[in-house]
Amino acid sequence: MPEPKSPERKGLVLVVCAPSGTGKSTLTARLREEFPDIGFSVSYTTRPPREGERDGEHYHFVSRDRFIAMRSRGEFCEWAEVHDNFYGTATQPVRDMLEAGSDVLFDIDVQGAMQLRRTFPEGVYAFLLPPSREELLRRLKGRGTDSPEAVERRMENARGELERAGSFDFWVVNDEVERAYQEFRSVYLAGKARPMQYEGMLDELLEEWNDG
Ligand code: 5GP
Repeated sequence: MPEPKSPERKGLVLVVCAPSGTGKSTLTARLREEFPDIGFSVSYTTRPPREGERDGEHYHFVSRDRFIAMRSRGEFCEWAEVHDNFYGTATQPVRDMLEAGSDVLFDIDVQGAMQLRRTFPEGVYAFLLPPSREELLRRLKGRGTDSPEAVERRMENARGELERAGSFDFWVVNDEVERAYQEFRSVYLAGKARPMQYEGMLDELLEEWNDG
């Protein structure tokens, strides 16, 4: 008996956006842990590395000049200026991962996600929401990493991001991390289950009827 074969699937573009403090890093880290084959789109940035961040893994850390040169050569499928630094996604590495059949996870800001849709319209665009303004404020203050002014700024940015949440395909409310994670992984799996991910599979399946 031949081995039952799994159908070939196209790589999925999975984009996750959230206001700062919503818990995006926790959920994306868990997804990558559970599904280690998911590729990650390593962005280019002009901001300096933080403690523990490695070049080529968390980001490609580049000078402003290099970023601007790449941008003028059209190497980015999206870019944005966030908190006075440039961030961008290089198109080719993403295409390479997708062509190899890998899913690709993007952790980018809302402006970037809107631009990315032009290049990858069939992606899954997910938005994480805080359960309330009060809870987001509590979490941002609780992190203890930001000055009161920075917390204020992040809260104001959150409003702008939430105003654009309506353009996303899926919402996950991060009220309780375990529940939110289950919902987030369902979004990922549902994205993979769409007929458009199974390139040519139906034709091949029907061919078996013709041959049989
Ligand atoms: P951080 O500097 O804290 O790592 O990231 C700041 C913000 O920039 C986050 O909202 C993150 O999602 C976003 N970001 C990271 N990489 C990119 C990118 O390539 N493009 C865009 N548009 N935003 C990015």
